[in-house]
Parts: sequence; structure tokens; C-alpha cells
Amino acid sequence: MSVTEKSVKDGVATGTLLEVKGVKKYFPITAGVIRRKVGDIKAVDDVSFHLNRGETLGLVGESGCGKSTTGRLIMRVLDPTEGSIEFDGKDITHVRGSELRHLRKDFQMIFQDPYSSLNPRMSVGTLVAEPMVVNKTASRSEIKDRVAWLLETVGLSADARQRYPHEFSGGQRQRIAIARALSLRPKLIVADEAVSALDVSIQAQILNLLADLRKEFGLSYVFISHNLAVVKHVSDRVGVMYLGRMAEIAPKDLLYSNPLHPYTQALLSAAPEPKRHVQRERIILVGDVPSPAKPPSGCAFHTRCPKVMDVCRSERPILKDHGGGQIVACHLYA
Ligand code: SF4
Repeated sequence: MSVTEKSVKDGVATGTLLEVKGVKKYFPITAGVIRRKVGDIKAVDDVSFHLNRGETLGLVGESGCGKSTTGRLIMRVLDPTEGSIEFDGKDITHVRGSELRHLRKDFQMIFQDPYSSLNPRMSVGTLVAEPMVVNKTASRSEIKDRVAWLLETVGLSADARQRYPHEFSGGQRQRIAIARALSLRPKLIVADEAVSALDVSIQAQILNLLADLRKEFGLSYVFISHNLAVVKHVSDRVGVMYLGRMAEIAPKDLLYSNPLHPYTQALLSAAPEPKRHVQRERIILVGDVPSPAKPPSGCAFHTRCPKVMDVCRSERPILKDHGGGQIVACHLYA
């Protein structure tokens, strides 16, 4: 069976839903009156990973590591410079127009700031109904019933329909955004810093809601966040990105208990550890993240890595499986 084929276990489709292969996204840097191209910002630079059906894959890394750009590439809001993206067994790398609009029903995005993603002039009912109306997926009365049901599913009362986004708190607005995202029964949700703007207690409510919805609707998530604790809470596997590249990707428990890549080790050493008996030695990284317009040669992390070797400066390490699904790009494990 190919990795993109479906199989069925206990009545639930299994197998790979999303396959990202060697994807790059370069943004040109131009100069002068004729806007001559003088370089590229390598926002995403040869990233590969897959997502199983019903799985949550966390993507973490510092600001500017390319995780949000990766999310937008999956959503096909951006065109990749190179590489391919397969969704549900179909190559969607170059689909456009009506075909893309049709496909978008299956993958939806939730953003950090629900307020800016919800039109303030539309009532909540209209906002949640809009994707169904645009895509003509149901009759008016069916849409009305489904809006009420969706609002109830995300923990809002049906009378929220008549109200407007500004009348709700940040957590409630995120619930509205989730109801809207669910309206077309997507298979995949890309959540980009979906709880970062919320208070900690509200964050927990939204994370629990997303987990419940995953079970109920068989959803898969790509969960993008800079917050390692949040990613640990929601993910089955976690990918760690640095300067547009995947440094390490592994099942959550392996990654958090035995990180192999020096960058993952440094990130985790700086994250608060809720279990008091677990003591991690803090690894202080020196220097700033290099510019993606001029990434270092060899391993992109070599300018800050405490374990740098000569080979790291000239040869780019490739991702290798070190057992149990722990895949690492580092010459230490060559
Ligand atoms: Fe550090 Fe070298 Fe590994 Fe890069 S390849 S993380 S520089 S040891």
C-alpha cells in the first residue's frame, strides 16, 4: 500500500493524509528602480514530513523559523518554490482556481487573532454559515440547523447567531472561528498560534475543545506554536524547525524525554518543566538567529551550536531515522 493510500481500521480511515516533500519557499529580494533580483529570503528550505489521518503534528521553533510559512504552503495560500504537497492521495502542489476552491473545503486554517479573521460587520450566524453558502453545500434550512449545531458543538449558545464578534471575549471568538472552520467538515485543520493570544485558563479550554473535536470528527491537525508546553499537550508527533529547515521530528514522548538535535535540546532546556523532579540543565545559545536571506553554509545551526564540528560548517546534514520514528538532521548521529 502506498503511503498516501487509505486503509480502514475499526471503521476509521487510517494512513497518510498529508505528505510534504522537499518543499521550499523563497521570497525574492529586489533592489533598484527596475527591481532587479539580488537574492532570496529562504523562508522554508527543503522541508519534508507527513501527517497521518487523525493525527496532530506540532510544529515548533523560534519566530522566523518558517513554521507559519509552512502552514500557509499546506493551505496553498502560498505557492511553493520547489517540492510537492500531497493531500488525501492527490498532488495539490500546483492546483489553482475552482479546483483549489473545491479542495479548500477539506483543509481549513485557524489563526492567532480570531478577531482579525472574523468580519466585524457580519453576525456570528452569517460568519459560520458563509463557507456553506459560498460552496452551496446545503439548503438554507439545513444551513440554519447546522449553524445552531456548530455553535453548540463549540460551546456557544444558539442565540450567539444574532450577535457580532466584538460582543464576545477572545476565547469565545476563537470558538466562533473554530465553528466556521468546521462548517465544511474539513479533514485537516492548520492551527497557527491558535491559542497564543488567549489567557492561560482560556487556552486550556480551547485546547481541550480541539482535542474533543478531533475525536468527534476524525480531524487531523498541524498545530503551529512557539510554545513547547502547548505543543506537548496537543501533539502526537512534533517537528522542530530552525531557519526554514526541519531539525528533528519525533513522537512527542521521545522528543520531550530524549531530544537528539542540539537545537531541540536547547529549546527544551529553556522551557519550564512542570514535573519538579525533572531537572534540565539550561543550555544558553549564543548569538542571534542568522538571516534567512543569508543562511549559514552546512548545518544552518552551526553558528550557535554548542557541539559544532568541522563537518557542520560545510555539509548540510540530512534527516535520518534513529529508531522509533525519531528523525534528526545532525552530523552527531551520522
Ligand atoms: Fe550542531 Fe553540527 Fe549537529 Fe548542526 S550538524 S546541530 S552544528 S552538531
